Amino acid sequence: MYPITKSDAEWKAELSDEQYYVLRKAGTERPFSSPLNKIYEPGTYVCAACNTPLFEGKYKFDSGTGWPSFDRTIGDNVEYDVDYNLGYGRNEEHCATCGGHLGHVFDDGPRETTGKRHCINGDALIFEPKE
Ligand SMILES: [Zn+2]
Repeated sequence: MYPITKSDAEWKAELSDEQYYVLRKAGTERPFSSPLNKIYEPGTYVCAACNTPLFEGKYKFDSGTGWPSFDRTIGDNVEYDVDYNLGYGRNEEHCATCGGHLGHVFDDGPRETTGKRHCINGDALIFEPKE
């Protein structure tokens, strides 16, 4: 189904406990817990499981929610689904390459740009600063 597919045991062996919980179990990290939350340097945020570039630092903004937030993704590297885990539909986002869960997208982002708020778990991402 995805270009990169691994067994649950393989993912568990490769990822940290926190990464595994978010990416493979669709978990959510505690707000304000990610070291990436307050990073605004130029660079690229890649999938912590498969290194696919997902978000650019220049499109990151401070949403005040405690999770890294972006107003857009990098191309089609992110896919969408609807989940009803909280009893109502939310647009879930996952990596298009490995299927890893990233977070959700909402319509209360910056009005002056896309209006979208991609609310992403820092544990699903690795930040690669621009040289
Ligand atoms: Zn991935």
